[in-house]
Amino acid sequence: MDILIKGTVIPVTGPGEILRDGVVAVRDGKIVYVGRPEGLNGFTPERVIGGAETAVLPGLVNAHTHAAMTLFRSYADDLPLMDWLKEEIWPLENRLEAADVYRGTILACVEMLLGGTTTFADMYFFMNEVAAAVQESGMRASLCRGLIGVAPNAEEALAESREFVAAWHGKAGGRISCMLGPHAPYTCPPEYLKKVAAAAAELGVGIHIHVAETRRETADILKQYGCSPVGLLNVCGLLDAPVLAAHCVHVSPADIEILAKKGTAVAHNPESNMKLGSGIAPITDLLDAGVTIGLGTDGAASNNNLDMLEEMRSAALLQKAAREDPTALPAYKALQMATIGGARALGMGEMIGTIETGKRADLILIDLRKPHFYPPHDVVAHVVYAARASDVRTVMVDGQVVVDGGQVLTVNVETVLDNIRESALRLVGRPRERSLL
Ligand SMILES: [Zn+2]
Repeated sequence: MDILIKGTVIPVTGPGEILRDGVVAVRDGKIVYVGRPEGLNGFTPERVIGGAETAVLPGLVNAHTHAAMTLFRSYADDLPLMDWLKEEIWPLENRLEAADVYRGTILACVEMLLGGTTTFADMYFFMNEVAAAVQESGMRASLCRGLIGVAPNAEEALAESREFVAAWHGKAGGRISCMLGPHAPYTCPPEYLKKVAAAAAELGVGIHIHVAETRRETADILKQYGCSPVGLLNVCGLLDAPVLAAHCVHVSPADIEILAKKGTAVAHNPESNMKLGSGIAPITDLLDAGVTIGLGTDGAASNNNLDMLEEMRSAALLQKAAREDPTALPAYKALQMATIGGARALGMGEMIGTIETGKRADLILIDLRKPHFYPPHDVVAHVVYAARASDVRTVMVDGQVVVDGGQVLTVNVETVLDNIRESALRLVGRPRERSLL
């Protein structure tokens, strides 16, 4: 179907490049024209979307999450990371069944789509169910099975990862790609990391891993191996693969140099880092060194939503506060991280992340006719500092309209909500005092 999109186009191809009263033409899932309406030749759209007071942006990329953890949203909060994981989250995860993961993931997909996120990078388990939910929702995703090298099933999980890559890499019309997902340096010993690196090279896929999330992790790795988490990954040859490194909160200047040299991309998760008290990643230093940075929400259990517009704002504000410098991480840089930065971090920079002729049509439309967008001084500042998920009206992925007028078209949202309540109730057993289950 030929679709024409009208509005103020923010293509994220450069800070000055904003097109007032512009158009984007979409044919066969691809962007075939971006520019002034006069330049459109022989394009007779079957549908026209948008118009005045609409901002048109590339779909947002959530570069690090565990989608099914929506099941644990607001279940256990305000706890230190290891207590939170060991006492609260892991016991519940042990009870998860495949159907729960499907339900949690499809809920996450609905939430993300409604907030303008079109692509996400996920690490979890029961990944066939995750892939099925992605396929059904119409989203784009880079998926990996989380691998715990110290677990008794470590070898089995790696074999399962190979099967998952064979089954899903490049599937769902090219919307699903796969990576290998060693959980973290503190859960995967060097020998295991080497095995994963070899498998990634053999399969031709990237690696998604948590790195240097807490001060304690960095200290423990130093004590155990005599180097930093980033240094350890480098020694193991892991960074020779395309790597998506989540967090990188506690990294040294030497680590940053390694990340830049190896072309390792970082997924920055400001809200999760704040909520778990992990610290503040040195994002401006990483950007100055030329490291590719995407933005992620992490799982809903440590956020507690998957709103990438909010995450952009948090990313910008956090760097300013940390550096006592209001010029640190300006709005446009935050927007770049949430779009093209994330796309590059997922190995999709050639395909999505900007609005350019030839790219796949992953686009979002934001309704600017709202009190919090008036007066219309600066549309980029509005999107980064004032917008919220509910301002997103239309979402297109791969040329298909999946959210129309603020409604998800691909999934029955009422059924999703009923199912998640049932799964959550079974998982927690007896609800807690403040629970509405
Ligand atoms: Zn994570």
